[in-house]
Parts: sequence; C-alpha cells; structure tokens
Amino acid sequence: MHLFLAPHPDDAVMSCGGQIAILTKQRQRVMILTVMAGDPPKHLHPTAFTRELEVRWEVAATPFAVRRDEDAEAAVKVGAGVRFLDNADAPYRCDAEGSAYYPDWQSVISTYHPADDALIERLLTDIARFNWQTLHAPLAAGNHVDHRIVREAALRIAASGGNVQLYEDYPYAAQDPKAVSVAQADLAKRGIKLREIRHQIDNAVINAKIAAIACYRTQISTFWNNIEGMAAAVRAYTAEHGELEWQISEQGTKD
Ligand SMILES: [Zn+2]
Repeated sequence: MHLFLAPHPDDAVMSCGGQIAILTKQRQRVMILTVMAGDPPKHLHPTAFTRELEVRWEVAATPFAVRRDEDAEAAVKVGAGVRFLDNADAPYRCDAEGSAYYPDWQSVISTYHPADDALIERLLTDIARFNWQTLHAPLAAGNHVDHRIVREAALRIAASGGNVQLYEDYPYAAQDPKAVSVAQADLAKRGIKLREIRHQIDNAVINAKIAAIACYRTQISTFWNNIEGMAAAVRAYTAEHGELEWQISEQGTKD
C-alpha cells in the first residue's frame, strides 16, 4: 500500500494527483493521511491571520469540516482512500491560554515552535498504524512549517530503514523556482541524499487530476483566479514537468 502524507487537505492531490490516479488504475492501494485536518481549538484567540483565512476560504465557524469534505470528494476522484488526523492547521495551533504559535504567514514559513515536537511524535505513532510499503511525504518546498513537520516524521522513518519518497509541493514549487533547491540544500546539509523520480502523466490522467483539484473549492482563490485558471495552470505544469519525487537513498547523522 502507498501511504501519502498530506499536511493539509489538498496537498497530496495537488502535488501527486496524477501519480495516485495511475497507481489506483493499476489496482494498487493508495491511502491519503491528512495530518492537519482537525477543528481549531475552541480556546484559540482568533488572529488577524485566522480571520483573513476564513474570509478567503468563504467559510465561517467550521472551516475544517468543509475542507475534510472537499478532501474526501477529491480522493474518490483519483481512486484513493483518505483518513484524517485531528491536529490543527498551523495558524490555529496555540498554547493553553489561546495564544497562537503562528500569528502570521511570515511565522508559518520561517519559524518552528518547540511545542510542535510533540506533534511529530504523535504522527510517528499514527503512521505506524498503517500497513504501508511506500511512504510519500512532502519535500517542504516553500518551507511551510506543517510541511516541514510531516517531512521530519518521514525522515525519521527513512532513517530507520523505511521506503520513503519526498514529493514536490505543488503549487509552491511552481510559484517559486528556487523553492525546491532551497529545500534540497537543507536536506543535503544534513547528509540526506535524494534520487529524483519523474512521473510522466498523460492527458487522460491530467484530466482526472484537474477534476480532483476542482473539489477543493475553498482553496482555489488562494492560488488561482478561478477553476479555469487552475485547470490551465495544472495542465501546463503537469504536461511539461510531470510529477516529481525524490527517493531518500542515504541518510547521514541527524542534527
Ligand atoms: Zn499544505
């Protein structure tokens, strides 16, 4: 079984939707585990950032109930199963008093809160519940802290001999041409060697991927003007570039 770790509802399908559709067509089992799919803690003091997200997503009190539904609908379109963990998305994680750990976008892509160490430990336990043969996790191109947390859990599994592939985070990698090389350089410094795997995706599969991404109605406006803009961008990028992953082939000592 292939287990795809998605930090957020949408990451696995946006980044690997073509590959997932190909695997399931070949009757291989694919499960998506969406890690930050939980409802925001009730005691969180809303920040300007969380208010802005809810306006952008056009959802009010229960943004993650809507996002889980979108994810389940999209998974069906590529033939995968999906499971949700109840960790909150970075902007919603907070201390006991309700103060947000990541009060703005800049903190999400540049800092790491030590309280998130416990989240990595819990994630390792959650991943161990699945009987997978290949684990797919984000490279964390774009440096989003939730992507880094999920990658960290995957790296620990790779260090103990697990078969782990890191996928190119779309659309972050397309938006910033340097994002992939920055993430790769971070891993190289830690002695982690990567071997590139390029999945070629044909037109019929690209269509299935676009139909799946279209299910993420709350997320389209963050990245594209509308559904047509998304379809054109995904088609052009996937046709030209395929879907990229990197097999972790060797791992040195950790920091
Ligand atoms: Zn994400």
